[in-house]
Amino acid sequence: MNPTQTVPADPRSCDVLVIGGGPAGSTVAALLAAQGRDVVLLEKSHHPRFHIGESLLPANVALFDQLGLREQVEAIGMQKYGIEFVSPDHEHRSYIEFADAWDKTMPYAWQVRRSVLDEMLFRNAAARGADAREGCKVREVAFDADGASIDAIADGGAKLRFRARFVVDASGRDTFLANKLRCKEKNPRHNTSALFGHYTNARRLEGKREGNITIIWFQHGWFWFIPLADGTTSVGAVCWPYYLKSRDKPLKEFFADTIALCPELEDRLKNASLVGDTVHATGNYSYEARVSSGERYLLLGDAYTFIDPMFSSGLYLAMHSAFDGADVIATCLDRPARDAARARKHFHKTMLKGPREYAWFIFRVCNPTLRQMFMYPANPLRVKEALLSLLAGDLYGRTPIQPSLWALKAIYYLVSIRSLRRSWTGWLARKRNVQDFGPLKGETIVEAQ
Ligand SMILES: Cc1cc2nc3c(=O)[nH]c(=O)nc-3n(C[C@H](O)[C@H](O)[C@H](O)COP(=O)(O)OP(=O)(O)OC[C@H]3O[C@@H](n4cnc5c(N)ncnc54)[C@H](O)[C@@H]3O)c2cc1C
Repeated sequence: MNPTQTVPADPRSCDVLVIGGGPAGSTVAALLAAQGRDVVLLEKSHHPRFHIGESLLPANVALFDQLGLREQVEAIGMQKYGIEFVSPDHEHRSYIEFADAWDKTMPYAWQVRRSVLDEMLFRNAAARGADAREGCKVREVAFDADGASIDAIADGGAKLRFRARFVVDASGRDTFLANKLRCKEKNPRHNTSALFGHYTNARRLEGKREGNITIIWFQHGWFWFIPLADGTTSVGAVCWPYYLKSRDKPLKEFFADTIALCPELEDRLKNASLVGDTVHATGNYSYEARVSSGERYLLLGDAYTFIDPMFSSGLYLAMHSAFDGADVIATCLDRPARDAARARKHFHKTMLKGPREYAWFIFRVCNPTLRQMFMYPANPLRVKEALLSLLAGDLYGRTPIQPSLWALKAIYYLVSIRSLRRSWTGWLARKRNVQDFGPLKGETIVEAQ
């Protein structure tokens, strides 16, 4: 037998083992290591590695501050002051600025290359004392009364064993523990997939708006247009299953045809070139795990849930869950009998809150009534300020946006009742759109992280 294939008799013991060195995993590892805990962070690939998800929210800025990374992120980021919405049913564009949100002190975020940001977060965890290893894939976790045994495999085939008092699953869309525990559920209310590529020489907005994200709705879904600091622009189409199922040509041609369905985007890309001649795709990505924690584990970020990237909330929610998670883990390790159950219950509520707030809007934004509210944002009862705060990620702090969000939803329902026929048509269209058509035919859709 090859000696590298045997499992070592003495496992490496630690307080916490984190599966996955993306934003959630690296953040929780950094925070726990800074508490003086013995943390092992295992990442299956090597940084810098490609990842989609480049648009951040203003609420991210405070988290980078707490990690001591704000200046570094600022140096690699493109300043994003707001969002441009373009709708095929409206002549004008709607521009919203985070500076107009309820809390005026969070006026911007950044667009970033994820390979660079994620490496920065991973190295930061190592600098704070985590035993951060790349090229190390977790294969098995077995829980027992004292903790867990974890088997991993390193590049080259060496088998590694760890003992941990606590395990964090931050494996992203691989959903390592949710798969193992068989508690992952496809979201029955949403169903979209994405095609995306990067372009040089795309026409951007001018002046302060240059770094804004643009959301362009079209008949089969919506596009993102995200300008990056190095001059490239990330462009993606998030589409309904029936449309992707209709693909009868290679991905690159299909993506070009899809862009051609949207005159505004086609015009912005008329002098642009596709970087590396590469178009990526993801399969349907809306899911949720039924549990977010157990006595000896916690699920963070995408390892717990993901709905849709429309409002760029994924990375913020992942990092926020890591901050919350670090406190819960400390409680579980230090005061298991007294406070752990309560801390985990609170954690679960927080994990549900963010995705559900965004989901309410994501599920309805194709309905003409809500679309109208995005295209003509008005501020009775401070509903616009509250919505902007939500879009800025300001939903866990002290900003009292909830009553105004309820008011906005009440206005939506009242207008929907007044325009019953339009609402009904919109509802039927959405029901048709989210219908599942099974696996996509032809070329395999590759999972882009
Ligand atoms: C099409 C699309 C567009 C998006 N756009 C945006 C956007 O504009 N803005 C935004 O904020 N979010 C966006 N997101 C979401 C965002 O990318 C994710 O929410 C975010 O990356 C979640 O971070 P994470 O740390 O939970 O997971 P990830 O970033 O996926 O990190 C998980 C890590 O775990 C590693 N891993 C997995 N399994 C194992 C294992 N067994 N052993 C060891 N390591 C393992 C992976 O290699 C990976 O590095 C988008 C998502 C999609 C699908």
